[in-house]
Formats: sequence, C-alpha cells, structure tokens
Amino acid sequence: MKKKMAHKVTLIPGDGIGPEVTGSAVKIIEASGVAIDFEIAEAGETVMKKEGTPLPDYVLESVRKNGTALKGPITTPVGSGFRSVNVALRQALDLYACVRPARLFEGVPSRYEKVDLVIVRENTEDLYAGIEFSKGTPEVKELISKIEELCDKKKKIREDSAISIKPISEFASNRIFKYAFDYAVKNKRKKVTAVHKANIMKATDGLFLECGRKIAGKYPKIAFNDCIVDNLCMQLVKKPENFDVLAAPNLYGDIISDLCAGLVGGLGVAPGANIGDKYAVFEPVHGSAPKYTGMDKVNPAATISSGILMLRHLKEDKAADSIEKALTDVFREGKVLTYDLGGKAKGSEFTEYVISKME
Ligand code: NAD
Repeated sequence: MKKKMAHKVTLIPGDGIGPEVTGSAVKIIEASGVAIDFEIAEAGETVMKKEGTPLPDYVLESVRKNGTALKGPITTPVGSGFRSVNVALRQALDLYACVRPARLFEGVPSRYEKVDLVIVRENTEDLYAGIEFSKGTPEVKELISKIEELCDKKKKIREDSAISIKPISEFASNRIFKYAFDYAVKNKRKKVTAVHKANIMKATDGLFLECGRKIAGKYPKIAFNDCIVDNLCMQLVKKPENFDVLAAPNLYGDIISDLCAGLVGGLGVAPGANIGDKYAVFEPVHGSAPKYTGMDKVNPAATISSGILMLRHLKEDKAADSIEKALTDVFREGKVLTYDLGGKAKGSEFTEYVISKME
C-alpha cells in the first residue's frame, strides 16, 4: 500500500510553559500514528535576545510554506517593550477568525452541568490593531486637536491623554459573521449571537451589529440574536447553556474567551485556533504562565485539544478521534489530573496517561 505523505507543520514552542505544553501535544499527536513532520520555528522572548526581534521572518515564512502551525503561548511585555507577537502573527498571516470552543468534559470540575459553546472572535482589528499614541507625544497632541476640530469642539479630550484607535470595518465584520455562520452550518450548531456594545459605541459596534444582521439574513436555518457584552458576561455565568456560537469583535472576544474557559474548568483545558483563508495556527487560549516555567506542573490539555482541532483541520479525523476519546476517558476517570483540576499529576504524567489510553 502506498504510504501517506507526511503533513508539514510549523511548531512554535513559545515562551514560559509553551515548550512544555507543545511538547506534550506533539508527543500525543505522534503516538496517534499520524504522519506529521514538525518544523521548529522559535518566536518570542528568547529569540528576541538572540535575534533582536521576537518574530523573525523565518517564522512567518515557515507558516506560509507549511500552511499550518501548532503554537505555544508567547509572553507580551505589559506597558512597554515589544508589541504582541501573537497579534503580529495573526495580522501578518490574516488569521481573521479566532475559534475557541468551550465544551465541558465529563469529569472536569465545574459549577455547571453542560456547557458547549464556541467563540468566534474577529482577530485582525478593533483596539487590537496596535494604533496607539502615547501621552505627551507630538502625534497625540496633533491627533487631539484634529479630533476636537472634527467634533466641532463639542468633545474635549484632556491634554494628558493617551489614545488607542478602534477600527471596525464592514469588510472584516462581514467576513467574521460569514465565518461564524458557515461554522454553525458545518458543525450542526443552531444559533449565532453577536456580541457588542452598540448602545454606546454606535459607530463601530453599531457597524459590527449591522453586518451581523445582514449576514444572518443569508442563513435562515441558523437563529440569530445579539447581546450587549456586559449583559452577556452575566448571562454566561448564569446560564451558559443558552449560548451556542458567539461572534465578537477582537477585544470582547478575548475577554469572554477567558470567562468561558472558567466555565469549563479553566485555562488548562481551553483550546483555540486562528484561521485564515490560507493559513491556520492552533494554540491554547492561555498565556505563558511564566511562574510555572520548567516545573512540569501545568495542564497540557488545552494544547492537546488545540492539536485535536489541528488534526481535524488536516482531515486526520481518525487520529483526532483517538486522542479526544483518550482525553475524555482520562477526565471521566478523574485519577490522573493536574493541579488546576484538583489532581496531583505532573504535566508529563498526565501526557503519558493519555497516551496509555489511546487505542
Ligand atoms: P496566563 O494564561 O499565562 O496565566 C494566568 C494563570 O492561569 C496562570 O497563573 C495559571 O494559574 C493559569 N494557567 C494558565 N495556563 C495554565 C495551564 N496550562 N494549566 C494550568 N493553569 C494554567 O495569563 P497571564 O499571566 O495574564 O499572561 C502571561 C503572559 O502570557 C503575558 O505575557 C501575556 O501577554 C501572554 N499571553 C499570551 C497568549 C498567547 O500567546 N496566545 C495568550 C494570553 C496571554
């Protein structure tokens, strides 16, 4: 029989706990028997020290060549320092849809009985566009006077302000809603909820919502409603079972992703995918948790589940099913769990145990 060609996948181990959790995911993916050649491309803090940039060109080239990447979290300095590599990567590769399923596995401790929703977050614009002006710079002063002029002096901006710009375009909003509805159809989901704050941000979030309504009209079999983001947070905590697919602009999508991770057991189990028309990068929702670096303590399940999403993207459903079943069995059994789920197992012990359950 002709041997199947191996998939080529870029592996970005990342910072902090990144190498540990991606290492676990790779080990489990390899144990599934699927043929994947991982090409390692380092990005983040460690590379910054060696190469003077946290995102060397070869990382982007590798993803462009291979089409698919598995990525660990990358540290972003707070306040000053280099810009987010994660945001830069998503923008450079036009990975416009960030898909984050929040499904409660049986056996994972949670306050809820059933949670099964998916966040589809717009990944390229909003306050994440990186258009920022620091306090006291000539640019911010010019911008303030221009804005006041445009507002006919009816709005005053304090001189000691910093400014971030929130672009929301019709193009990107239509594109993300189309993705959310197509996702709903493909994955047999019933409802898309648009997340916004259009009562206050009438221009930007108003446009986002308008696009949602327009695209919804093309999908009569999928229900559509909308929810103001603050109300949504309360509703999610009270009745997460009322939600199915949540389509959100970048910033709200980021925040509700962590909230939803909390509904299903925490960041240790929340997977994610960044999808564009040409490339796809799979990564957990969580960050680099620097305080746990090298301790073999954290939960690799979020990255393992991101690996499952990647295998489905590569049409390797058999391998994905085998890993998902093993992971489900390990959670249901509840004997070998990491600290975040109330267990005592090391990350490596959890990984080995999942492998031992694979058929
Ligand atoms: P974080 O997600 O790294 O950690 C927050 C807390 O969540 C941790 O202290 C830990 O208690 C828990 N946690 C996270 N991952 C876990 C896991 N796998 N198992 C068990 N517990 C886990 O968030 P942070 O501390 O706000 O961010 C740290 C760094 O990561 C920052 O530099 C931030 O910018 C970056 N970050 C990167 C990404 C990414 O690469 N996509 C995403 C979020 C944050």
